[in-house]
Amino acid sequence: MAACKRLLLLYTGGTIGMQPSADGLAPASGFEARVREQQIEEGADHLPDWVFGELLPPIDSANMSQANWLAMVSAIRTGIEQDGCDAVLVLQGTDTLAYSAAALSFLLLGLPVPVVLTGAMLPAGVEGSDAWRNLFGAMRALHQGEATGVQVYFNDALMHGARVSKLRSDAFDAFTVLPRQRDSQRAGQIPKAIDYRQPRQPVSIAVLPFYPGIQAEHIGALLSSGVQALLLECYGSGTGPSDNAALLAALKHAHERGVVLAAISQCPQGHVEFGVYAAGSQLQSAGLVSAGGMTREAALGKLFSLLGAGLSQTEVEHWFSLDLCGERAD
Ligand code: ASP
Repeated sequence: MAACKRLLLLYTGGTIGMQPSADGLAPASGFEARVREQQIEEGADHLPDWVFGELLPPIDSANMSQANWLAMVSAIRTGIEQDGCDAVLVLQGTDTLAYSAAALSFLLLGLPVPVVLTGAMLPAGVEGSDAWRNLFGAMRALHQGEATGVQVYFNDALMHGARVSKLRSDAFDAFTVLPRQRDSQRAGQIPKAIDYRQPRQPVSIAVLPFYPGIQAEHIGALLSSGVQALLLECYGSGTGPSDNAALLAALKHAHERGVVLAAISQCPQGHVEFGVYAAGSQLQSAGLVSAGGMTREAALGKLFSLLGAGLSQTEVEHWFSLDLCGERAD
């Protein structure tokens, strides 16, 4: 773990750099000057040299899309391959920060430098804000030397990028890695077809929880919308309404048409194990692939990374079932 000598500070928006507007807090440019000014107060000790990159326009991360993730990947690669950076700190809004951390974990597989994401619950400059603590704390961690892969730095803690979730909207310790069963086999060498050099295209993925009262028509409407993958949030250990023959038939039919059907548990500390209940086995027979103990964020980001790389349904299911970066195995 080499100390970072030249950091890419990639600003994408979020509360950390927001300014008040008539409608409430809004994304704002001009953050580089504010960081440079604050750095004089912090002192340059234990901080790397850094260059600033900005994705324009800066956004409220509620507007995060696959295209934004691809733009981040492109800016990160430019920073490393052309500008000589050896670590990256991404600044973004907290609302979808865990989704971005997960997506980048899979989009940047094999990248030879560490990537950390942070943001803030209160804007920089507001009294009591966590912005400078998070930003300079993350910079200091990178200066000391971090492992390759994607992590989130928040409230003085570093967390695995493909395991973390935002669980609070009202406190500085907004991000947590909950203990979930890790049950999968580590993939061996990551092939070039799914590493960071592989170009990706946006794809159509939907996420839907099972809930009492769900009808075959609801799922059918979603499946006929052209989705390439449907991430189903199942009950408990991977069950669903298995006595609904029409619903199971809709799933089976979609799977036969090439749609990837993936299953996570709705339980914050759960994992999918289809065979425990007959109601789970039937979902597996309909074509669902288990995400084990992966979070929703990780499963969504992984599906995007695999499908976006142009892999077939069978290839996506194969790589989805293996652990690629610590998302489903220790
Ligand atoms: N809505 C903001 C965002 O995600 C919240 C934050 O940054 O904390 O951009």
